[in-house]
Amino acid sequence: RVYVPDPIVGPMVEVSGPEAHHLARVRRSVPGDRVELFDGRGNAVQGRIEAVGRSTVSVVIEAPLPTRPVPSATVTLASAVPKGERFDWLIEKATELGVARLIPIRTARSVVDPRSSKLDRLRRLVVEASKQSGRNRLMELGAPIDWEDLIGQGPLGVGLVAHPAGEPIGRVGPAREVTVAIGPEGGFTDEEIGRALASGWRAVGLGPTILRIETAGLAACAAILSRSEG
Ligand code: SAM
Repeated sequence: RVYVPDPIVGPMVEVSGPEAHHLARVRRSVPGDRVELFDGRGNAVQGRIEAVGRSTVSVVIEAPLPTRPVPSATVTLASAVPKGERFDWLIEKATELGVARLIPIRTARSVVDPRSSKLDRLRRLVVEASKQSGRNRLMELGAPIDWEDLIGQGPLGVGLVAHPAGEPIGRVGPAREVTVAIGPEGGFTDEEIGRALASGWRAVGLGPTILRIETAGLAACAAILSRSEG
């Protein structure tokens, strides 16, 4: 599977950048090889390699591929940023799960500044996880936002904030659109939780143990996505 960032319009597509490098140098593709192209917007086509150049690969489009099933809920994960590779892991796994959007949040006790991560590198992780998991629409990486501002702006759909003292997440009924927020390693402050509840967010628990940021994010998204499909 090959990602092309521009809309796929036939009859020929020029693949460039890291995807061309991967095809030509890693896969050692040759003319005649078949590839699947996807545009990250939900479209995919079957193609055949026509020519392999120094920095581009020309692909002839043969046929559109059927659309793949997508989760029946649109889930936005608004999460404090875990340290180092754990954020990469969260991005990869959230993409696999079918999370629509990940928004890094800054809270009173955050220790990692969400702006410290290079967006290009994070986008590449999303592309790789999409290729591997068969996802045709990329997970969107939202601009980092202060938790206070997100509360003020309001959640997309039903707003859930993960908190160990919240009602079990399984009790929340299915919804088409959900935003779930995860706090930093030190947790949300009581004031942060109080303001969210006063603005209509619901506090949800994820079980009796204390989970790290990335585990909590994935557990919450998996619970919401499995429920919405039931
Ligand atoms: N001592 C912190 C507290 O009490 O919130 C623990 C923070 S935890 C390492 C990081 C974040 O993951 C929390 O702010 C919360 O959003 C989420 N989280 C972790 N375990 C959870 C659980 N059992 N139920 C709900 N949320 C949880």
